[in-house]
Amino acid sequence: MRQKITILGATGSIGVNTLDVISRHTDKYSVFALSGHQKINLLTIQCIEHSPRYAVVIDPESASILRAKLQEAGSDTEVLCGVDALSDVSSHNDVDIVMAAIVGAAGLVPTLSAVNAGKKILLANKEALVMAGGLFMQAVKVSGAVLLPVDSEHNAIFQCLPGASQGLSESGVVRLLLSASGGPFRGLTAEQMIDVTVEQAVAHPNWSMGRKISVDSATLMNKGLELIEACWLFDASPDQIDVIVHPQSIVHSLVQYADGSVIAQLGNPDMRTPIAHALAWPERIDSGVAELDLFDIARLDFTRPDLESFPCLSLASDAARAGMDAPAVLNASNEIAVQAFLDRRIGFTQIAAVVKETLSASIFNEPESLAAVQESDSKARSYAASFILKIER
Ligand code: NDP
Ligand code: MG
Repeated sequence: MRQKITILGATGSIGVNTLDVISRHTDKYSVFALSGHQKINLLTIQCIEHSPRYAVVIDPESASILRAKLQEAGSDTEVLCGVDALSDVSSHNDVDIVMAAIVGAAGLVPTLSAVNAGKKILLANKEALVMAGGLFMQAVKVSGAVLLPVDSEHNAIFQCLPGASQGLSESGVVRLLLSASGGPFRGLTAEQMIDVTVEQAVAHPNWSMGRKISVDSATLMNKGLELIEACWLFDASPDQIDVIVHPQSIVHSLVQYADGSVIAQLGNPDMRTPIAHALAWPERIDSGVAELDLFDIARLDFTRPDLESFPCLSLASDAARAGMDAPAVLNASNEIAVQAFLDRRIGFTQIAAVVKETLSASIFNEPESLAAVQESDSKARSYAASFILKIER
């Protein structure tokens, strides 16, 4: 029996890489549903190639366009529309695996639907855990869902840990070392980054990714979000995690043990490795990634992050320590600030300023429900948006 997969965010960078891996193993996997948002042409091509039962988009206009294109191509994929439809194809009885690869807060609700339905979830959408980690992990426990990290660093740590159910200290773990490439502006001072352009910010030296996460990698907010993500995934405190800058992006993260051993996972910087690992876990399958040639790489460097030039990392680590809904506020204000930077309304270094200002204007509360998380998220978004109106160029 082939396992049936729903890919949330099929038209994005992770979605495309997931389809690439799946297409190498059509004997093992079949596509149940694909979702997209604005890239309707790409979604049409993906539906023709992979014949999912359902394709999901958000707006009715996109749904009509997609329906017409698929009908013309003779495809029998059914087009659904709206946020509820995303949840339906994530929790459907026939689905075995859900790849959660929508970017940002929009991914939270459908990913939680997959969790509540007890699916095997391949988690790329780190923002869901940052916003609602407590509720998310509790829902995983209750439903018995299998949560596998796709984010390369977390996938690496998962591979370096001994077993799923033991706590870190029971396993003899003293520290998790989270790799960071340092992004395109590694080595620059805050002053030197004032006038960097959108094009420079999204041009990551090692990884090819969507625009939002590329900007997050350039500010190091991505590493901050990943620190929070790691706390939830591995039941770690922020003090048990060190960020290490490793510009070659070959060592994807490491786990340090009480006996002095350090176990690392290495590989070429290609997301198809963690995707294939999570997809086939506990087995191993071919991902299409070239074999790592250490002779060719020759050297691996490690340095400490420059927290002064990249304040987003400290803001995230403070939010992790503050707990409650501070990470949700951090995430929401960052999403608004990154979009304003991509729209060329604010400068690169003002992203951190927006997040800092929103965090300091917020009173944090413990979010007891999804509705409470969504309220913190939307309050922080409006605060950040009005602050941007005051400072925009
Ligand atoms: P992309 O921007 O390339 O893709 C995002 C996907 O989400 C697209 O399919 C997009 O549709 C869809 N989407 C965007 N907005 C909405 C919305 N409001 N409602 C529904 N769907 C929406 O991002 P990535 O693939 O790079 O990243 C996806 C997630 O994975 C992020 O959370 C990121 O942090 C995480 N991640 C990514 C890595 C990478 O290497 N790319 C590595 C580790 C984690 P469309 O394009 O059709 O508009
Ligand atoms: Mg990562």
